[in-house]
Amino acid sequence: MNLLRPTLLTLACLMALPSHADDLPSLGDASSAIVSPQQEHQLGRAWLSLLRGNVNQLNDPQLKDYVETSVYRLAETSQLQDRRLEFILIDSRELNAFAAPGGIVGVNGGLFLNAQTEGEYASVLAHELAHLSQRHFARGVEAQQRMQLPMMAALLAGIVAAAAGAGDAGIAAIAGTQAAAIQEQRRFSRQNEQEADRIGILNLEKAGYDPRNMPSMFERLMRQYRYDAKPPEFLLTHPVTESRIADTRNRAEQAPKGGTEDSQRYQLIRARVALIYEGTPGLAAKRFRAQLDENPNMDAARYGLALALIKGGQLNEARESLKPLLAKAPNDITYNLAQIDLEITNNRLADAQQRVDRMRALYPANYPLQQARIDLLLKQNRPAEAEKALDALLKNRPEDPDVWYDVAEVRGLAGNTVGLHQARAEYFALVGDYDQAVQQLDYAKQRAGNRVLKEKIDARQRELMEQQRMVKEMMR
Ligand SMILES: [Zn+2]
Repeated sequence: MNLLRPTLLTLACLMALPSHADDLPSLGDASSAIVSPQQEHQLGRAWLSLLRGNVNQLNDPQLKDYVETSVYRLAETSQLQDRRLEFILIDSRELNAFAAPGGIVGVNGGLFLNAQTEGEYASVLAHELAHLSQRHFARGVEAQQRMQLPMMAALLAGIVAAAAGAGDAGIAAIAGTQAAAIQEQRRFSRQNEQEADRIGILNLEKAGYDPRNMPSMFERLMRQYRYDAKPPEFLLTHPVTESRIADTRNRAEQAPKGGTEDSQRYQLIRARVALIYEGTPGLAAKRFRAQLDENPNMDAARYGLALALIKGGQLNEARESLKPLLAKAPNDITYNLAQIDLEITNNRLADAQQRVDRMRALYPANYPLQQARIDLLLKQNRPAEAEKALDALLKNRPEDPDVWYDVAEVRGLAGNTVGLHQARAEYFALVGDYDQAVQQLDYAKQRAGNRVLKEKIDARQRELMEQQRMVKEMMR
């Protein structure tokens, strides 16, 4: 199904959870179409898995870590009440980002290509979080501001359909029946967009950013796509007009100056994303070199050049490119991860390990570093240690299919057959393939040595079947 072309991800203008859950219908109450907060959470997660099964994603740990960390930081100063968020990074160079019920935050690779500073990037996400916190979707639907099942289904189906592209007939069929409800929602959008801008600006300021980044980004986007016959989806759902720019400019100007506009870290992440969307490592190297010719002090370009050279197998040149960066910032995690990548590619595993150990002492909880260590342990043919490291990683990332994929691999290598099938089940469930997930748990049960384990697997299997039932019901 993964036939994602340049994706069109509709912006979902949504809602957060009600603060009072007491009087809501209980889970599974068939007499009401109103979704309880817990249902909303579960439905959101179930739909996220369906989305994951239908779009190509970016699985770079550094990119994932950056998006998660930055959005959580914004959420802290936002008006969002339920801050249990899950993320999806979509492999598309088109500008887009969205937030959906159940706390799903989606970001396209193209957001990094278009947003030139961290402040611009944060503007888009603060706006999206505001749609969530202001419960925009529900507000359009009914006065009591509670999500209704058909509306939520329509909304999420729309997201999956748009993200999967028109080419996927199965997903298009799911969305077809729901399209009318999506249209209904649009009627309310202009007012919601204004409010999301306004609340987003307040949040940017509270989070320490200069909110002037928001109108700046709008202005640039308007110039950039003014004569474009097919502007990105984000601009279709978020028409940037002169009056919108003037309005956000006025509001942003009221904030005191001195907020953060950009960060070196954002530029480094941006270089990673730029490399993904270059045709070849050679072309990427050429572009980063041109940037360096213009500005020899541009560390992000030097870093990008090093990555492009590693990817292209020019390891000595890559080493030379990283050298001045590491000399300047010997403990920088991003540069050290690049050097570790270089050593592993060069098969200098002892050097890589030394560096991993030194960095681990400095940043014990860093996800990309943990993942680099696991990759290294596997290269060194040490599956038992890799398994232990992955179990530790799972504690913080229990809903990350990339981690479960590795866990299944490693358990297979370590001869843990029951664990292998359990891990595969979790992986398949997280990417929306419930049939496979349930089957994997059958295999696990058949091989389970004792009754307690069998019962545990059985209980998990029932949970997954319930999730599958929910998804099917929504797709009817
Ligand atoms: Zn919006």
